[in-house]
Amino acid sequence: MICLGIESTAHTFGVGIVTDKKKVLANVRDVYTTETGGIVPAQAAEHHVECFDRVIRQALDEAKLKLSDIDLISFSQGPGIGHTLKIGGLAARSLSVLGNIPLIGVNHCIAHLEIGGMCTKAKDPVLLYASGANTQIIAYDGGKYRIFGETLDGGIGNFLDTFAREMGLGFPGGPKIDALAKKGKEYIELPYVVKGMDTSFGGILTNAKQKLQSGKYSQEDLCYSLQETVFAMLVEATERAMAHTGKTELLLGGGVACNSRLQEMCKIMCKERGAECYILENQFNVDNAAMIAWLGIIMHKTGVTTALEESDVRPYERTDDIEVTWK
Ligand code: AMP
Ligand code: MG
Repeated sequence: MICLGIESTAHTFGVGIVTDKKKVLANVRDVYTTETGGIVPAQAAEHHVECFDRVIRQALDEAKLKLSDIDLISFSQGPGIGHTLKIGGLAARSLSVLGNIPLIGVNHCIAHLEIGGMCTKAKDPVLLYASGANTQIIAYDGGKYRIFGETLDGGIGNFLDTFAREMGLGFPGGPKIDALAKKGKEYIELPYVVKGMDTSFGGILTNAKQKLQSGKYSQEDLCYSLQETVFAMLVEATERAMAHTGKTELLLGGGVACNSRLQEMCKIMCKERGAECYILENQFNVDNAAMIAWLGIIMHKTGVTTALEESDVRPYERTDDIEVTWK
């Protein structure tokens, strides 16, 4: 079986083509970026409208396939930005009708987890999902993927992007902060906010902005201190979830999982508790459509499809709204 998946929850319009034998035939993405400022939803949607046909064609060309070779169309149904989700949904429905191909809407956060099973030997991991809009610690329990901990305000990536914007850097800011942090020498104390397995970044952002505006600290030291603080928070909450569930595998996902310091801290934590730490190639950490195609395949194997009249997008869909039929 060959599935063509479409990703459009936020900045990325992606098309992935994957087989049920775990072969990725194409994983093409086109990303909306800015020089200054963050994501403007209508502009991101406009970006997707402008590139969707080219990205679909490029993916089919790379896979050396025609639409008639595709057995299943999957798409990110939620959660995400309504404006951009609609473009992916529209493209998926159109391909499904054009090619008379079954359609399946999938949950983006669960796709970040399931791609771990395609790329690694992970069987039942705790996922630290650290992306732009989402920061969740997710694991399978009692028939569903449960959120054991999450941000109480914004996502960690948005937090990094906002601080980068404050320094006059454009979107995405995470990689720029990553680079500056490597040059930092001195740790500057910042608030540290973990509540059980939940985290919060708003107060830290305000504090860090004040420190930046004071002119007393270098950008390098601030970025270094920011990373040390917020990543330690994530690792603490994740370790608590691993201890609570008794699970012995950790999987990282989301764009912020590309960060080398976060990866290092997770590896140390896992080593200390005798757990396995699985880190994916960056192309499967960031928003990508190969993971959407793969989740489409494993859900479809259990007989799930999405009728056209149920294929509207779900910007506020929660991970634990989904009935897990495939485990
Ligand atoms: P996603 O929404 O999962 O595609 O992830 C996008 C987010 O990942 C953005 O907020 C980026 O700033 C962030 N990001 C990407 N690379 C890095 C990195 N090396 N370090 C920290 N954040 C990153
Ligand atoms: Mg994501």
